[in-house]
Amino acid sequence: MKILLHICCAPCSIYPLKTLGAEGFAVMGYFYRHNIHPYQECLKREETLQAYAQQIDLRVIYQEGYDLEGFLRNMVFRETERCRLCYHERLSAAARIAQKGRFDFFTSTLLYSKFQQHDLIRSVGDAVGKAVGVPFYYSDFRQGWKEGVAESKRLNMYRQQYCGCIYSEKERFYRPKGLD
Ligand code: SF4
Repeated sequence: MKILLHICCAPCSIYPLKTLGAEGFAVMGYFYRHNIHPYQECLKREETLQAYAQQIDLRVIYQEGYDLEGFLRNMVFRETERCRLCYHERLSAAARIAQKGRFDFFTSTLLYSKFQQHDLIRSVGDAVGKAVGVPFYYSDFRQGWKEGVAESKRLNMYRQQYCGCIYSEKERFYRPKGLD
C-alpha cells in the first residue's frame, strides 16, 4: 500500500516514518512551504529534511514556490481560526498530490505533535480525504513523542522553536512589558 506523508519538519517525521514502515506502507514524503516563516527558516527546515531523507533513503516531494503573501491573505481578519485554515490548506495540498499519484492513503506528521490540535487535524483530514477521494490515514503518532524527540537530538537535527507562521513566532517569543 502506498501512503503520502505530509511532513511539517524532519524531527516530527521520525516516529511516523518508523511506524508506517513497520505497518508495511511504502511511504513518500511531501514538504509544504507556505506556512513556514520567514523564508530562511523555511529553508532551514527543508534542508534538515533533505539531509534526513537522504540518510534514510526516503523519497520526498518538495513544494515549489513560497506563497507567503497568499498564506497571510487567507488569514487576515481570521487569525483566531488560522490553524484550522492552515491544516486545511496543507492537508488539501497533500490529498491532491496523493490523488494524482494514485496513493492509497495520505496522512500527516501533524498527528505526531503534542502542540497541535489533534482532533481538529483528524476531522479536517477526514473531510479533505472524502472531498478528494483519497482516505486520510489516522494514527495517534503522539505515542512516540519522547522517542522521536530523543532520536532527533541524537541525530543532532535542527529543532525549531515555533510552529511555523509569523503568528506562532510572535506567540512563542513576544512578552509584553510588565508580564515578564
Ligand atoms: S500556528 Fe502552525 S498550524 Fe497554526 S497557522 Fe501557524 S503554522 Fe499553521
